Amino acid sequence: MSTSNPVERLANSRHEFGEHGGVNMSIEASTTFTVMAANTMPELFKGGKTPAEGCYLYGRHFNPTVYQLGHQLAAIEGTDAAYCTASGMAAISAALFELCESGDHIVASNTIYGGTYALLHDFLPVKANIKTTFVDMTDAAAVQAAMTERTKVVFAESVSNPTLRVADIGALAAIAHAQDAQLVIDNTFSPLLISPALFGADVVVHSMTKFINGASDIIAGVVCARMEFIQGLMDLHTGPLMILGPTMDPAVASKISLRIPHLAMRVAEHARRAQVFAERLTELGLSVSYPGLPAHPDHDLLKRQRCADYGFGGILTLDLGTEALASELMDVLQNRYRFGFMAVSLGYFDTLISNPSSSTSSEMTQEDLVAAGIGDGLVRMSVGYTGSIEQRWRQLERALHDIGVLEATGC
Ligand SMILES: *Cc1c(COP(=O)(O)O)cnc(C)c1O
Repeated sequence: MSTSNPVERLANSRHEFGEHGGVNMSIEASTTFTVMAANTMPELFKGGKTPAEGCYLYGRHFNPTVYQLGHQLAAIEGTDAAYCTASGMAAISAALFELCESGDHIVASNTIYGGTYALLHDFLPVKANIKTTFVDMTDAAAVQAAMTERTKVVFAESVSNPTLRVADIGALAAIAHAQDAQLVIDNTFSPLLISPALFGADVVVHSMTKFINGASDIIAGVVCARMEFIQGLMDLHTGPLMILGPTMDPAVASKISLRIPHLAMRVAEHARRAQVFAERLTELGLSVSYPGLPAHPDHDLLKRQRCADYGFGGILTLDLGTEALASELMDVLQNRYRFGFMAVSLGYFDTLISNPSSSTSSEMTQEDLVAAGIGDGLVRMSVGYTGSIEQRWRQLERALHDIGVLEATGC
């Protein structure tokens, strides 16, 4: 039964058990697989037999444990298939290499993860003659105007890093498809909250290093798409995952798989706390950005595009105006009050705090930072769920008081 609720899709898709009837899938520790008859081998190499039929060839191609984790992610995203990679960057670069050839063109959002920006801005033009035009994705006319006859991909984050603008996925898909381009959405910030494929995205990628894994101990990624697309990534001659080889280890796939069942509870709690903090910070007169605030420019858009069980996501930003003040707040929050940690990344059980302009977005030029609205004083907070919410709020409020921000705003 197809359903618009990602956890219902996940529950409906559960079919894998361990080799000896274990409730959890087994870890397939083999890198190579036997065949029962010699003439099966050539068929495997011609692509005649696939993992969907239970046929495996070699671990860099497909591994059963990694394949089954992909099955879970495909259910969550509502796509036919998915395959997991060694990192989020591997998932993004493989998807783009699958869709673009030398001379092709990409239209991408100007507010994206720094590594993706570097891939598009610095790496692909030099290494592969694939050029990107960066635009404000919330401006449909600008996206349309950037399209060329060589545009093969429109790329955006469902909720952008770190500006928390929400992509209108249906509108972007319409623009892309009218020109035979494909819409690739990085859904790292909003697993379960948004299912981009339901609104027309052709390929959905994740850094599973973040919310999906949830413990900041594993680097991983996934590409979710049509079955033919996933098969294409694994083509023995031209498949970017098969040829470049950013393979996920089956032991890692097993670990992540065991965390998928509580992803829904984690994401809901991250969002519940982020909403409370965002509302209270707003009441204190501070400059807060969070899609759950009615004043956020994309509040209504996200409401139309989301699964309401997961609020408005677990990330908020606070603009303190200057890098000095941002640094002071982060110092006090970590070292005086143990509110969270000064660290990049997100989706961890503890709160992670960073200053994007000097860290995760520092790959961007000063001009591009300004165009994207990433100020020097911006503090990004991935709200964790350890401790009690009132204890965490007291810590945050005291830290703001200590650095003198609350007096300055008259509170
Ligand atoms: C972290 C991140 C990536 C890169 O993922 P890795 O797993 O570190 O390779 C890509 N996109 C977004 C939005 C991210 O936050």
